[in-house]
Amino acid sequence: MDPFASPHNLDTELRSLLAQASSNLCDWFADSASQGPMPDSFSLPEVYPAKEGISNKVLLSELQSLMNGSYRPLHPGSLAHLDPPPLSASIVGELICAGLNNNLLADELSPSLSSLERKLCKWFCHKLGLGDLSGGVAASGGSLSNLMALVMARNISGLESDPNAVFFASDDCHVSFSKALRIMGLKQESLQKISTDENGKLKISSLHTTLNKIKSQGKKCFAVVATAGTTVRGSIDPLFEIAQFCKKENVWLHVDGAIGGVFGLSEKTSEIVQGLGSADSLTINPQKLLGIPKTSSLLLVANKKHLSSTFSTGLPYAEPITGDDFHGGELGIQGTRSAETLKLWIGLRKLGEQGIEKILLDSIKRRCYLESIIDSSKFKIISGPLHLLAFTPINYSSSQASDWSIKTRNFLLANKFMLSRPMYGDRYYLKAVLGNPSTKFDDLETLSNIINHSTS
Ligand SMILES: *Cc1c(COP(=O)(O)O)cnc(C)c1O
Repeated sequence: MDPFASPHNLDTELRSLLAQASSNLCDWFADSASQGPMPDSFSLPEVYPAKEGISNKVLLSELQSLMNGSYRPLHPGSLAHLDPPPLSASIVGELICAGLNNNLLADELSPSLSSLERKLCKWFCHKLGLGDLSGGVAASGGSLSNLMALVMARNISGLESDPNAVFFASDDCHVSFSKALRIMGLKQESLQKISTDENGKLKISSLHTTLNKIKSQGKKCFAVVATAGTTVRGSIDPLFEIAQFCKKENVWLHVDGAIGGVFGLSEKTSEIVQGLGSADSLTINPQKLLGIPKTSSLLLVANKKHLSSTFSTGLPYAEPITGDDFHGGELGIQGTRSAETLKLWIGLRKLGEQGIEKILLDSIKRRCYLESIIDSSKFKIISGPLHLLAFTPINYSSSQASDWSIKTRNFLLANKFMLSRPMYGDRYYLKAVLGNPSTKFDDLETLSNIINHSTS
């Protein structure tokens, strides 16, 4: 039994292994609804390599026990996080990607796929209005896209060795910015938090006050982060006003559109995120709503040269490429990386513009419906224009809200609904993300029934 495929003949053993594994995966999908979002329990297979390698039969059965212990994104009650089920075409894309095992580090290791990534990033840039000089690079997740954006912004503004340089982001910004601080060698106070209004949007007045404050301390600001789709409620910061502010003050605008960016892809929803195109850099995570298997994130920039001028070091061991393009490994932090744009490309091709639009609109419809059937006389509901909402009982103390959130989440799990339990402001909420295409209005009615009775 050869562990590698033959370069000379059709490898029938590989073919039957793939066929059997695919068939098991299809069965796993088909079982989804009869199980719950989370497994009741699981057992791990043997973890360490034994002295001798295992047979395909054992391999498949060990694989099965991992599958049985997995979270099921396709279950109609899987509503906790920004983790939708994968598009079928993209599953194929991921499988083929593993088989090709090309490397986006350098063009010579991924001739067609490097080219595909450039073109696909450019398509996103055009759709989102980033202009003619734009371009982008794929990254393994939004945290990495955000980090790269900040490193680039600091570099372009010439503040890379200023220990007092700061950037601004709202109180509701993603935790990846706190992590970026540590990686970039910045202090906690280098992230100046801007307060939000009652809709969870960054307050422009607070932006002005904070800038004046740091100026009076003799500090410089290298970026403002606007969030298009906050993690708890899906709020969109006022992108136009923030862009005007940045232009006037000559500060880099990074838009964290990890959640909301994809809504810019359809004419029917792009109004919600108007102003995305004024970003200097933009994070977008197709993994969070469109069903592209993890990880799928892009960092898009208005001027592609800023990526290479920040991250290019030369690749002395790879052949130079023609034209003014750079190798994939010179456009970001990652060196070797897989062709994550393959599953993105194939998923979007399969969906078409209409399919993309349907995912976006259906998600918003589900959120609107759920919002309309949760009893607003009992719950404070917070949401934005996207597909996320969170709620907490009115008139509870924060400790009562905490008890309620634990008890209700567990009761929901026993009824095969999984919601998450974020802390927001001074209390716990339950949060539903309505990006799962398997969730029907009937399911939402069952869910709201449980919720509406959870305070008595
Ligand atoms: C999820 C998220 C991120 C981080 O993306 P990862 O892919 O999880 O690293 C960044 N910003 C926002 C607003 C997010 O919701």
